[in-house]
Formats: sequence, C-alpha cells, structure tokens
Amino acid sequence: MDNASGTPLHPKVTEAIIPLLKEGFGNPSNLHHFGRMTSDAIQTARGQVAGLINAKPNEIIFTSGGTEANNFALKGILPAHKKKGNHIVTSQIEHFSVLNPLKSLEKSGYEVTYLPVDKYGMINPDDVKKAIKPTTTMVSIMYANNEIGTVEPVKEIGSLTREKNIIFHTDAVAAVGNIPVDVKENNIDALSLSANQFGGPAGVGALYVREGVRIRPFMEGGVQEGGRRAGTENIMGIVGLGKASELAQSEMSQRVNKMQSLRDRLKDGILKNISHVYVNGHPTNRLPGNLSLCIEFIEGESILLFLDMQGIAISSGSACTSRSLKASHVITATGVDAALAQGTILFSLGINNSENDINYVLEKLPPIIDRLRQMSPLYSQKK
Ligand code: PMP
Repeated sequence: MDNASGTPLHPKVTEAIIPLLKEGFGNPSNLHHFGRMTSDAIQTARGQVAGLINAKPNEIIFTSGGTEANNFALKGILPAHKKKGNHIVTSQIEHFSVLNPLKSLEKSGYEVTYLPVDKYGMINPDDVKKAIKPTTTMVSIMYANNEIGTVEPVKEIGSLTREKNIIFHTDAVAAVGNIPVDVKENNIDALSLSANQFGGPAGVGALYVREGVRIRPFMEGGVQEGGRRAGTENIMGIVGLGKASELAQSEMSQRVNKMQSLRDRLKDGILKNISHVYVNGHPTNRLPGNLSLCIEFIEGESILLFLDMQGIAISSGSACTSRSLKASHVITATGVDAALAQGTILFSLGINNSENDINYVLEKLPPIIDRLRQMSPLYSQKK
C-alpha cells in the first residue's frame, strides 16, 4: 500500500522487457541491424508515452526519472529564455526535485515566488495570476501532490499562462498513469513523468516539451534524443516505460474506479473505527489511490513499523523524505500544526491491491493505534 514510492512492475511490462534483456544490446545510434532493433524499440516507446499524455512523439525526451525531468525542465528551459526574464512562480508544496533546483537557480540570480496553498493543499489560480509580472518566464506547479493527493487546478493555470505567453511546467510524476492527463487540453508546455508510478521500472522517466519551446541540453555529450539529452539510452527502462504507458492508457478508467472504491472503503473503515483521525488533501479532487491521514497523539513512523511487522507497507509522509523524521513541508503548508503533522501516514493504493488487503488493514490498524496511544504521554494527558 505504498505505491507512491514505486509500483510493482506490471507483468506485461516485464514480458516486454525480457526480449530486450536477451537481445537488446545494440547501441541505438548504430546503423547496423542490432542498432536499428533497439532504436525501433525506443521509437515505439516514444509513441506510447506520447499517446498517454496526448503529445507528439518528438515532444518526448527520455530521462532517468522524475527528478532528472524536473531538473531538466528548470535548468534547461529557463536559461534558454533568460532574455525574457528571471522570475518563476511555483508553490510551497512542490517535490524537492523542483524546490532544490529552484534554490540553486535563486543563487544564480533567478527570483522565485512560492505560492501558499489552502487547507486542502489547493493552489488558487488567482494567486498565480497576481504573482505574474513582466519578468515571469515560467510557472511550475505540480499536477497532483504525491503526499496528500490533491489534484491542482492545472487547466485554469494553463489557460492563464498561455494567454500571457508564459511557459507552464508541471511536475506530473504523481499524476501520469494514475489519472487522465492531456497536455494539449491543459495548455501544458513542459511536463515531467516517472515510470515507476504506474507499473514501469524505476530509474526511467520522461520530460515532455511542447514543440517550439526552447530547451538547452542539461546532460551534454552525444546527439541522442535529438541532441537534447546525451548518453546511450536506457533501452530496457524506456521499453518498460512505453509498455506501462500503453497499458495505463487502455486501462485508465477501470484502474481509477477500482482504486477509488478501495480507497474510499479504507477511509470509511478507518474513520469509523479510530478516533482523532484527520484526512489530508482535497475531499474530492484527489488521486484515486491516495489516503493521507494525520493520526493524533502518535508518530507516523511508529505506525509504519508496527504495520510492517504485519506485512503491510505504508509510508509516513513522503517516501523521499521518510528517513528525515522532519514534519513534511506539504502537510505543514496546509496549516496542520507540527505535532499533529508527526502523526502523518500515507496509504497509496495500486492496481494490485484487493478487497482482502483493505479488510486486513482494517483488522490490524485499530489495535496498533490503541497500543501506541496507550504508550503516548500526549494521549494520557488528553484523557
Ligand atoms: N515529483 C514527484 C511529485 C514525485 O512523487 C517523485 C517521486 N516520488 C519525483 C518527482 C521524483 O521522481 P523520481 O523518483 O523518478 O526521480
């Protein structure tokens, strides 16, 4: 139940990768038939990824994952538009693979506005509008938040940025493959995605860059990926990402319905059986498999470890920061106080979860919470 940290490989993705593992050794840049075989496989994958987000194949650049895609979008697109200005609008709840590159850019003379969010983690498009000034070159706002699941008003932001001729980048790592995403309909100019969020392998992703948007190579070397991203391609990873994209596109509505109904059953069961529990994120505009909770008087890490002993894998806050034991910047931005934020846990359901999994969690979780609360000085004071 920790699919936000990475999903299991879809069996059909494994099947698609195996022939390449055996015979996909040809360098795709080579003209001989070994090279043509792998370069054809990459082109097929490019079409599959493009199909998932309604882009053109030549608008897809393969990367080593979401982190590289976000770094590339910021450090590749912004310098290519420096003449226009040096101001970027983003939000306080972005992933660190957006926030940290922005921090570096600030040190080299860029100006960044970090927009707040409401109690649901929602960005107000009016705030985006107000933050825009003549020097604004880019708005980078995530499509959906990986910790609390809130889906942001991307369409409104996209029409605003298109009207003002400002580049709109969205970190859609948590969204692509889990909910329908259409770059054209939403006027998105650049978008980051990652394969292991929807049945593909870890360590591979892509950056979509709309035709006509300038981007400077971030990884320099050869002329792979149309000269935009150098280095011999991760053939197996890319083929896996392609197949995962094709499957996600064809199974999207079934997947969304299944995850949503399992998530709602889990949520209702927990709220019914455990007191002092708060649901994070937006009540309706949220990722179908996401259930983020604040459980009062105890720490998320203790719940995680006790559930792990029962064979249940969850996350406390974000997967990427769960070792830091700091209250999540996302939860705190929604106005939750620091003590309650310590009790954050995240269930992120995937397509492999079943009704039985939900029943099992609903059986195991309440006694664990009871036991931890009995040990908590905060809980005895409350009583
Ligand atoms: N952005 C978001 C919203 C994410 O959830 C993640 C992964 N947890 C990333 C970026 C980074 O992606 P990757 O792990 O593929 O580098």
